[in-house]
Amino acid sequence: MGGDRGFAALRRRALLLGLAGGLGLLAGGPSALAQPRAQAQGARRPRVLATVAMIGDVAREIAGNRVEIATMMGEGVDPHLYRPTRSDIVRMLGSDIVFYNGLLLEGKLTDALVRAARAGRRVVPVTERLPAEILLKPAEPGGEGEQIWDPHVWMDPRLWSRVAAVIADTLAEADPPGREEYARGLADIQARIAALDAYAERALASIPDRQRVLITAHDAFHYFARRYGLRVEGIQGLSTESEAGVRRIEDLVALLVERRIPAVFVESSVPERNVRALVDGAAARGHRVAIGGTLFSDAMGAPGSYEGTYIGMIDHNVTAITRALGGQAPERGANARLAARATP
Ligand SMILES: [Zn+2]
Repeated sequence: MGGDRGFAALRRRALLLGLAGGLGLLAGGPSALAQPRAQAQGARRPRVLATVAMIGDVAREIAGNRVEIATMMGEGVDPHLYRPTRSDIVRMLGSDIVFYNGLLLEGKLTDALVRAARAGRRVVPVTERLPAEILLKPAEPGGEGEQIWDPHVWMDPRLWSRVAAVIADTLAEADPPGREEYARGLADIQARIAALDAYAERALASIPDRQRVLITAHDAFHYFARRYGLRVEGIQGLSTESEAGVRRIEDLVALLVERRIPAVFVESSVPERNVRALVDGAAARGHRVAIGGTLFSDAMGAPGSYEGTYIGMIDHNVTAITRALGGQAPERGANARLAARATP
């Protein structure tokens, strides 16, 4: 029961809270139909709230102006830590559909999601149909509370394309007259995601074998690495003050030097000094390492920019990684739309 998996913890918790009655809604079965409003002439557009922008953007691509779409977390917000504000709760309760990633990405939103489901909102974890066999375990089990699965599914475009289908189906269930429009929107975004994936495969395959190591700030890139055949090493949680931290830095420096890996990557959430320690350590051993750019992991770029779309976010990452690690990719990416000098 894939649909239940993302909800395991939520369900446990809801049961504790005595909300079992509301769980038919959570499970997304027929009882989830919270009086869908037919979109008659003059009827208001369905309201959709997405927790993260990777979901909101795809929903917008599918639905166009047919629905009203808002995103809870903006640029640079960490969904692992995000706590809903009072106005988020009001917005959730005022929405017809609430899409969230699930797999406990939005761990601090659990209570609010349960509350919205209980109030009759259609509350849908977009990863619900992904079979357990294709999900990854987190790099550090137990590192983030009850984390059972690695939630960073959007990093594999083929998986996110399947997620797009869940979004389209949910929209069609809530707004049956829009079914054809959603189907067209879905086909369009899936074709563009497939083209992006093909570009990524080609670009990343051009990185020389020994340099196919992605050293990044936090553990968001395992789905990406699996899809495109890279090895990933995270540097999050490294403290240069602990012995383990020092050893980890030494190991990573050795890896950089031994394989002549030309770049490491940063994310805004990670202390610069950890990355510095790697760059300096390699320099001390005569190997120059560049900082290969800032990658988008759990949030997209600025709203209104190409990097502020799902396609643009992945394009940026693919292009930056490829170029920094010695592969070949056009400076402005798959669609010639990346901001100039966004990549090394
Ligand atoms: Zn993350």
